[in-house]
Amino acid sequence: MAELSPMMKQYLEIKKQYPDAILFFRLGDFYEMFNDDARTASGILDIALTSRDHGKRKKAPEDQIPMCGVPYHASDGYIARLVAKGYKVAVCEQLGDPSAKGLTERAIVRVVTPGTVMDASLLDDKAGHYLCGLYLSQADENIDNNINNIENGENIENNNIKSGEKIDNNIDNNIKNRDGKLNGDVNLKSAGAAFCDLTTGEIHVTSFHGADCVRHLMNELGRFSPAEAILNRVALDTPELTGVLVNAFQCAIEDGGKDGVDRFDLEQAAIQVRQRFGEEQADKLKNNNAALQALGALLRYLYETQKTDLSHINYLDYYEQSVYMELDLTARWNLELTATLRSKDRRGSLIWVLDKTKTPMGARLLRNWLEKPLLSVLAIRRRHGAVASMVENTIAREELIKNLTGFGDMERVMGRIVYGTAGGRELLALRSGMERLPDIKNRLYEFQDKSIRRLADDLDILDDLRVKIEKSIADDAPVSIREGNIIKKGYHPEVDRLRHILKHGKGVIAELEAREKEKTGIRNLKVGYNKVHGYYIEISNSFKNQVPENYIRRQTLVNAERYITDELKNLEEEILNASDKIAELEYNLFCEIRNEIVNASSRIAQTANIIAQADAFASLAFVAVRNRYCRPEVDESGGIDIHDGRHPVVEQMLKDSLFVPNDIFMGEKEKRVAIITGPNMAGKSTYMRQVALIVLMAQIGSFVPASSARIGVVDRIFTRVGASDDLSAGQSTFMVEMNEVANILKSATSRSLLILDEIGRGTSTFDGMSIARAVLEYCANQIRAKTLFATHYHELTELENTLPGAVNYSVAVKTKGEDIQFIRKIINGGADRSYGIEVAKLAGLPSRVLKRARMILKELEAEGVNTVTPVKSRTKNRGADLDSNPENGQVSLISVGESEVIDALRRCQPDTMTPMEAMSFLYELKKKI
Ligand code: ATP
Repeated sequence: MAELSPMMKQYLEIKKQYPDAILFFRLGDFYEMFNDDARTASGILDIALTSRDHGKRKKAPEDQIPMCGVPYHASDGYIARLVAKGYKVAVCEQLGDPSAKGLTERAIVRVVTPGTVMDASLLDDKAGHYLCGLYLSQADENIDNNINNIENGENIENNNIKSGEKIDNNIDNNIKNRDGKLNGDVNLKSAGAAFCDLTTGEIHVTSFHGADCVRHLMNELGRFSPAEAILNRVALDTPELTGVLVNAFQCAIEDGGKDGVDRFDLEQAAIQVRQRFGEEQADKLKNNNAALQALGALLRYLYETQKTDLSHINYLDYYEQSVYMELDLTARWNLELTATLRSKDRRGSLIWVLDKTKTPMGARLLRNWLEKPLLSVLAIRRRHGAVASMVENTIAREELIKNLTGFGDMERVMGRIVYGTAGGRELLALRSGMERLPDIKNRLYEFQDKSIRRLADDLDILDDLRVKIEKSIADDAPVSIREGNIIKKGYHPEVDRLRHILKHGKGVIAELEAREKEKTGIRNLKVGYNKVHGYYIEISNSFKNQVPENYIRRQTLVNAERYITDELKNLEEEILNASDKIAELEYNLFCEIRNEIVNASSRIAQTANIIAQADAFASLAFVAVRNRYCRPEVDESGGIDIHDGRHPVVEQMLKDSLFVPNDIFMGEKEKRVAIITGPNMAGKSTYMRQVALIVLMAQIGSFVPASSARIGVVDRIFTRVGASDDLSAGQSTFMVEMNEVANILKSATSRSLLILDEIGRGTSTFDGMSIARAVLEYCANQIRAKTLFATHYHELTELENTLPGAVNYSVAVKTKGEDIQFIRKIINGGADRSYGIEVAKLAGLPSRVLKRARMILKELEAEGVNTVTPVKSRTKNRGADLDSNPENGQVSLISVGESEVIDALRRCQPDTMTPMEAMSFLYELKKKI
């Protein structure tokens, strides 16, 4: 093979450092890709794959290497397309002067990864774009940490361990773990999670401690839907975590220990965090190693890929889990908060109803509120107060909304400015937002609410910066910052002078000619130009004596002499180089102005945040008025009392009919468990979800679709709704259902709200009903959670009499002959029958099938098998051995044969049996069943 050219050597050297990225290697006006990178990229980007000699001289075909390229000015779009496919792109620029002799110096200036894209085409305006660091500790590491912490008497707040009971448990578990005893199922761990949206510079960090920390961590991911995650070894070895990242969020996974570098190193993390955020902010993570390590790895990865100082990342938001309502992934999806379950559309989700914001920042903030419902009654009431005052003041609200319309994305524009990728247009966008700030500030003062007035007080209208941009940046600034025309006329005298020269080159020469004539008194002095000597001053011999001393002779003609002066030489140079000079000067001035804006980034970020809040409140107020919502009363009562509640999304989707409102009351003790029966399609699921959504809306600060509502703050909402198969994960429908139920029963508290829809339907009737009843009893007796339980097992309505706090509701229907009419009203008491065949008729089942179904039903009823007959009589009909003793709590559904078998088993004494007797006993038993 031929010897490699110096450039190819340089390429391979750089590529070696970034083996997992596609290398964009700058060659003049193109980024070139070689070898496998070229093969991959040419396919994805649909560009021609060519080849290039890699040797010093033209060589044989085997010396040709595959290559493709994209123009540098259009590279953003190409990079975005590769990143969208999950690739990383390392951008390698020419650092030295490419026109200089020898090999140009080159280096990677940035690695674009799925979590660090800044290209608008890959970003959703209305949602954050997150990269995250996830740290999971080994049980052992954590024991030491926790014991240290506990011994030191520190970290109790940070570890989110608030009650004495939890501390005791923690010590207990730690010690058990350390001794290696007794802890079969207690696998105490810590988890840290750090999330960063590079486009806005926001950072959120949290941590979890205890046996269930992986589950909590996964729930947390639901708030952010990260695009890329850096994981430590333990996290990488936790399949449920990596499975969720990849399958649920299509998140790219990065090994934090790649290339033998431990990016989660604790000491390094502490240094990085202190350097980036300063001592005071870093203290938020004191003694919280899991959080510190997650953030440390995140920062390190950002430095490695972005190669900038990340100066716009300067506020560390550490939050404890007790601040927000935790929603597990299932609940988040089932409640269709940000996308519908089936088609993943925004239309049909709760955010689709609530988000009428006018700015991308407002949209993102509102989504953020939705992802993080509050638990503090005070904080919730504060938001309600703000919405209420906007609801009340229609004129100011509408004016505010007008002011916000078209405000632009100050946060992300700022992100690009700080990042150094913004041009004049971004500064103009910033300016146009700033121009609206005084009006917005005045408008905010028109509302009575204290929080809104505080927003007005705190709103920095950034007048100095606006004036700066207005004076300096041309109104029609081009996209490029390197080619001039970006600085406004009048801002800088030198720019103006050079522009004048460029535009009026001839005139400037004429001006000089006139000046010289006047100065010297030589009438026929003239300035001329030729290719050899450039500009010159020509003076006829008759005026030779009057030529000033500073004139330098260049050429002698027959009857004249040609001269140059320093001024003329400079002018000539300026005329010839004006356009390059201007471009450079304008670029430098632009960078100066941009730096000035960057230095004010925290002021601008604060303003953007206030605009986002104003927008989010205005949106909630607008929706509240338009959809006739009421202000909910929120307290710590633990009960829920809603009058005329409606489903916020279904009511918007109904085109031809009106939504029928319904009440719900769930007391602290009484009516805590609602057993809801009724025909299919009657509206059970809608009713239960509407209760959950109303609670959730109340806790994000929104008004709610009801005529009145009192909501005792709920710590978690759990849902078990419908059959969501997870066959790809190797689980059957029933298994998924049981997994979800198990999780709910393990995690719910008395302050939780449970939505359980048709538990047990995935298996045989008796098994299903037994499970349903046992679950219901557990929720009522053990957890004491507020529970909405829809079921087709009408037998369960009996529980109203025996289960404390249980109450029956059903959805009323009207029947006319064989037809059924839904009236969607929830009434007290259980349903009389199932109406399955009537609903099937509505669905269009063939009449023959319906007829046959009716016949079968009649036969079954004649045999005494009736689905709505209460448990006692039903089992009697079947001649069963019934045990409905509420003491042992289970309805025995064992048939006679089976019960005899059990009796026989109870009586038999295996010790005294011969093998033959045992064998014939077994045959006997088998015969009986
Ligand atoms: P199944 O038992 O088959 O799951 P269901 O009783 O849970 O049925 P839903 O899915 O809640 O029934 O409701 C069916 C449809 O009825 C909804 O899609 C909605 O269009 C309509 N609906 C439900 N509740 C109301 C209501 N209160 N007012 C108007 N329409 C309603």
